[in-house]
Amino acid sequence: MNSYNKYKSIAIIDVSSEEKRRRQLQIFDVLPIWRWLWCQLVKINIEVDFLEMHFSINEQSFVLRKKYDLLLVYIEHYIPEWLSSFFEEIRTGENATDIFLCGFLPTIKMKEMKEKFPFIDNILTGPLEVSLMQLCDKLYSVLNTDIVFSQYPKEGNLSDNLQIEYKRNFLSSTVGIIQSSIGCPKMCHFCRYSKFYHQFYPYIYKQYPMQEVVEEIKKLVVDYNVHFIKFMDSNLLGSGKLIYKRAYELANALKENDLHIIFAMHCRSDSVTKEVINILAPVGLKYISMGIESMSIKQLERFGKQEIVNTHWEAVNILKEKGIFVQGYGILADPLITRDELLENLQGLYKLSQEILIVLNEKMILYTMTNYYKNYEKLIPNKRLVESSLGVVVEYDFSDEWCSKYFRYIEETSIWLQQMAVNLYRKMKNQRNANDYMKRAASYRLEALITIANMNDPDDFAVEKIKNDTIEKIRKMR
Ligand code: SF4
Repeated sequence: MNSYNKYKSIAIIDVSSEEKRRRQLQIFDVLPIWRWLWCQLVKINIEVDFLEMHFSINEQSFVLRKKYDLLLVYIEHYIPEWLSSFFEEIRTGENATDIFLCGFLPTIKMKEMKEKFPFIDNILTGPLEVSLMQLCDKLYSVLNTDIVFSQYPKEGNLSDNLQIEYKRNFLSSTVGIIQSSIGCPKMCHFCRYSKFYHQFYPYIYKQYPMQEVVEEIKKLVVDYNVHFIKFMDSNLLGSGKLIYKRAYELANALKENDLHIIFAMHCRSDSVTKEVINILAPVGLKYISMGIESMSIKQLERFGKQEIVNTHWEAVNILKEKGIFVQGYGILADPLITRDELLENLQGLYKLSQEILIVLNEKMILYTMTNYYKNYEKLIPNKRLVESSLGVVVEYDFSDEWCSKYFRYIEETSIWLQQMAVNLYRKMKNQRNANDYMKRAASYRLEALITIANMNDPDDFAVEKIKNDTIEKIRKMR
């Protein structure tokens, strides 16, 4: 008898949910593949619960309120402290349950995971788009259903009752999340995401057939009255010749299906051309996020972005002309940054922040699997493997003297100002447009960081004053 036959109820836990909640990210519906999994399993009467909200009061442990046949644990790049004791409880308690692991870390560090948790029943390796489909495939064949195992994660039709549950689970807001591709064809040197798919996804990068993507959008529009679609692809348009082709396919499919939506997407700034935006803006493109990463020439080279500062400006100007709201992600410091590069980056981001919302990652997360690590490993001072990541992430010092001594002021100030700006926004009586507010607050924040980076010898007192002056400016903005 196939051992999968016994799984009639499954609990799914995302161990990064604490971190995601702190960063105000949604949890399971960020990746539509979880939604797809739920749809497939409930249709064949397997009970599926996502358990991210059921932490105990002190948040030190996870509470399983009932018995499940299988616990599927999704782990990204770190293992939280509470996980070991939680597993022990599960294995020894009355509600003993089989445990499967899946996600980034169990794939990269399968052997170490097995050593750390020897009682684990199975590790589903590979990107979720593959491992969850394989899990479903096993459950289907056991249950002998006619559901077709297709490459595109088509959710299919649901009964009226299941539609209500679907809405409750995945459409708490009026935003529909869609994923139209897997992986990324590029290979920026700092990017663990692309490296992971290059290593563990046989196709490296795949764009799903557009008609199938649009069928899913249609379902959200017609069945659930959702008209704002957020594409979760890391790089919706791909690269090279694919860019124009994909934009054209998307626009055409939306028109042919008479779908009037507004949508948000993420892409590289080098895929933003007049031709592409002229195709996408008329069919609903209103928001774009782009990986700016840096406005320092040298840093962009180290990042292997294959983009220059001007690429970002050209994209921003094209989008501004069309009235599209832009969010740009920047990384302030990598291990080899110099103080001059930091200033160049901050000043460039500050200028950009007059036009777009800048979202900052203060210190680059360094993954040992990336090309950045391989290229510069020997030059990075004081590397320490992060235990909770099983050595996949490395802590480091900066090679530049000023940065190694004072970057902490930049980092602390940036994080504090961001948090304060969010808190102030929440307390506002008449909340103005969140995007505009955060855009201006980010601009003030960058101004403050430039002031600190310009000081030869910043100290607690001076930095405190800069923080207070800046928050006062943000407060007045209300
Ligand atoms: S374009 Fe984005 S997703 Fe692709 S490799 Fe670069 S950073 Fe990663």
